Amino acid sequence: MTSSLAYRPDPQFMALGRDFADPVDPADFPTTRLRFRNDRAAATVGLDGLSDAEWIAAFGRFEPLPGNQPQPLAMRYHGHQFRSYNPDLGDGRGFLFAQLREQGTPSSQTGRLLDLATKGSGQTPWSRQGDGRLTLKGGMREILAASLLEAVGVPTSRAFSLVETGEELQRGDEPSPTRSAVLTRLSHSHIRFGTFQRQAYFERPDLITVLVDHAVETYYPHLAHEPDRPAALMRAVVEASAKLLAGWMSAGFVHGVLNTDNMVVTGESFDYGPWRFLPRNDPNFTAAYFDHNGLYSFGRQPEAVFWNLQQLAACLTLVTDQAGLVEALNGFSDAYRDALRAAMLRRLDLKPRDLATDMNLVSAAFKALAAGGDALRWEPFFFDWFGGPASESRAMAGPRAALYGDEAFADFRGRLADFEPDRPERLEHPVFASDEPEELLIEEVEALWGSIAAEDDWAPLYAKLDRIEAARQAYGFADVSDKNNAV
Ligand code: AMP
Ligand code: MG
Repeated sequence: MTSSLAYRPDPQFMALGRDFADPVDPADFPTTRLRFRNDRAAATVGLDGLSDAEWIAAFGRFEPLPGNQPQPLAMRYHGHQFRSYNPDLGDGRGFLFAQLREQGTPSSQTGRLLDLATKGSGQTPWSRQGDGRLTLKGGMREILAASLLEAVGVPTSRAFSLVETGEELQRGDEPSPTRSAVLTRLSHSHIRFGTFQRQAYFERPDLITVLVDHAVETYYPHLAHEPDRPAALMRAVVEASAKLLAGWMSAGFVHGVLNTDNMVVTGESFDYGPWRFLPRNDPNFTAAYFDHNGLYSFGRQPEAVFWNLQQLAACLTLVTDQAGLVEALNGFSDAYRDALRAAMLRRLDLKPRDLATDMNLVSAAFKALAAGGDALRWEPFFFDWFGGPASESRAMAGPRAALYGDEAFADFRGRLADFEPDRPERLEHPVFASDEPEELLIEEVEALWGSIAAEDDWAPLYAKLDRIEAARQAYGFADVSDKNNAV
């Protein structure tokens, strides 16, 4: 490796030993063709200097990075899937490949500890009947979801690398055979709620304590001196999860599979499967075709997150008194309200006023979105009104002006007029001169895949990612995940 940048390996998880992970070998793929490398993310961990050949050695063949884990680790966890407990889970097609430090910032010289972890890298002891693989389409979908969520300010893992691997996969939900790939994501911890659940299931309070200590010391070190560490961790996870949830709800994002193994203690959104962005404000909108009861529909995401937090708290009862955990859970609704307030103001670029005024605006915005019906898509609404009163003339000259002139929008517009834009200079970005924002509705996602599937034409995908990057810069919400309490 020839990178001269500050790559700083710091493999910590492996020290927890075999109760938490199994060393595994990556699959030996017939081909490794680089399809996507996220150099912006790579620069944050000093890996952008890798040549393509070095990149493929690392993220296609998983040759260890210098000073990092000598072998990939399939992480052990359990989880509730659609509310049923599954004790046979674990990394079945992925592993933790490496851990490394983010570049330091002036406020934090050390930088956060980040994980490079995979999806589709081969079978593990936890593969059950699965092939351990990821479809190329699935990999492409994860890149898209993570990019747009990041652009609109939701704390998320980043798609780091996608390598096409030359195998033919059989899948029930894609025309098969279908192409294969291995994805690597850069994420802030893979300690799932289900990681705790596994130790609770085996009645190992000693190992829950090990995990609590690891999570606190690594991700929430400012809580290290709290007298009741498990309760303090629970409070922090409640808060981080509430922020994540508020991010999804303000982005019109339906994760699709909010199982307890798909939520981590740092509150980052990750593991994108059947996700969808809402076509319009519809609380019943369900993303996963296998979610027959709408358990994880858009409007039920708050309930799903809270239910998952309760499962985590239940595990922690093995190592501390209930009272502190109950108090932490009781903090959820206020935490969610505060986070939703902040997220919606951020999306509309407004300075906060008082709580009641802000929350009235939040409800007025959701009502306006609902009143727009099929004619009003989620993303254009926020795009049009970004900057509040500073965008009144832009919104009323744009393609949705007639709609906004309707009586149903009077309440929202009236309330908006009392707010001040926060950083209206951002409206000067060329992105705001366009009529339409970047979105990722299913038809567009399918069309992007269609070009790849039919003609191996990747240009539309790369062009889309460039436009999403421009939107990210225009909104300027960078580093939201940094602002979680976790470090
Ligand atoms: P997910 O819905 O992607 O979070 O996956 C749930 C569980 O199923 C995890 O333990 C995965 O590792 C496992 N899994 C999903 N797909 C496969 C596959 N193709 N091969 C092996 N394990 C899989
Ligand atoms: Mg998962």
